[in-house]
Amino acid sequence: MDEYKKCTCGSKKWGYSSDEIGYIYVCYKCGKYSGKGVHPMLLELTTSDPTFLMYMIETGMLKKIEQNDEELDYGK
Ligand SMILES: [Zn+2]
Repeated sequence: MDEYKKCTCGSKKWGYSSDEIGYIYVCYKCGKYSGKGVHPMLLELTTSDPTFLMYMIETGMLKKIEQNDEELDYGK
């Protein structure tokens, strides 16, 4: 899974994922969202109220997607 995707504005959309919710990519520059497996109502909520998204990240409901292939190989 990609840590981030390129946004149409030229900036980066950062990925957040949740086992229950799916995953979502957010561009903090232009405020664009995209997600898969995310409930349409949740997308609506995060789009209308960005603090809701921050709340979900802070509470750990959504976790930042990190590519940790190197860490997995580390110590072999
Ligand atoms: Zn953007």
